[in-house]
Formats: sequence, C-alpha cells, structure tokens
Amino acid sequence: MKIKSKMFSWMNPNLEVRNTKKYGKGVFSKKDIQKESLLAVFGGYIMTLKEEAQLDNSIKDSAHQIYDNLVIGIKNKQEIQSVDFFNHSCEPNAGFKGQIFLIAMKNIKRGEEVTFDYAMVLGGDEPYELDCLCKKNTCRGKVTNIDWKKRDLQRKYRGYFQWYIQNKILGKRT
Ligand SMILES: [Zn+2]
Repeated sequence: MKIKSKMFSWMNPNLEVRNTKKYGKGVFSKKDIQKESLLAVFGGYIMTLKEEAQLDNSIKDSAHQIYDNLVIGIKNKQEIQSVDFFNHSCEPNAGFKGQIFLIAMKNIKRGEEVTFDYAMVLGGDEPYELDCLCKKNTCRGKVTNIDWKKRDLQRKYRGYFQWYIQNKILGKRT
C-alpha cells in the first residue's frame, strides 16, 4: 500500500514506507543519506496528553510529545501520514533537532530502516511503557517515559533529544 504524504508533514523523498516483515510497517532509505540530513518534519494538531488519550487506539501512539503536556499529531485514521511509520530502536540512526525535525544521526545506507529512540521524545508524567522488539544487543526491552533520565542515554543522544527534553536534562525550565 502506498501512503501519500499529507499536508501536515514532510518526509525526505529518499525515504519510503515498507513492510518490515517483523513488526508491521517502517520507514526505509532508498538511497545513501548523509549524516545530519533532514529526514522528516512532523506536524499536526497540537493536543494535550489527555486529548491524545481519547483518540482511536489505531492512532493513539502516533503523535509526538513536544512539551510536558503537549503533543503534535493526527486526530483521525484518515490523516495517517508516511512519517507516522518511523519505528523505535535502541540503536537508532536518526535523532531530533528542535521538536519537529528528524535528522540523520549517522550516515544511512540505502535499504536501511530509519529509526529513532522514543526516549528522545517521551517525557510526560503519565507512566508509559512499550515493549521493544528491536533485538539489538543494546536493547532495553522496554521503552518508558523516564528513559531520558538514564545517564548513558543522555550521553548517547546528546544534541539529539527533543528540545523540551534536552532542557529538562540541562535543568533549564522554560
Ligand atoms: Zn530495543
């Protein structure tokens, strides 16, 4: 199935949605992509965590947290976009700049799946837990809303956390 980009978001034309054959759909590169390239811009409605929790189950986890209590994303199934298919990995090749830019954290080879670590965006007070299926040897097994507090992850993703989480790590309030 071909999923067209919708007006809310942008995805680098060198990327496409494909079946991972392991855990549903994912985003893959069609060409070699240089480190620091822009991969996607996430857009959508701005919602509170409470509003997000009321969305249909099929899209509940597709919005991105952009502040303590705010997310950006779609509200209806019909609005599903290519950028909603980036999977989590504990050994990712993409990270954030600001809140809505996804960029290449390293050089990405043609055919590679493009992933980011959900720890880079998850930081709400509501407990959240997701089983990780990435099977990398650094796999944490579970992805939670407090992973960003882990020192090793703070070091690993320095400069690639979303802005509001990076500020939490630096102890700055906004
Ligand atoms: Zn994992």
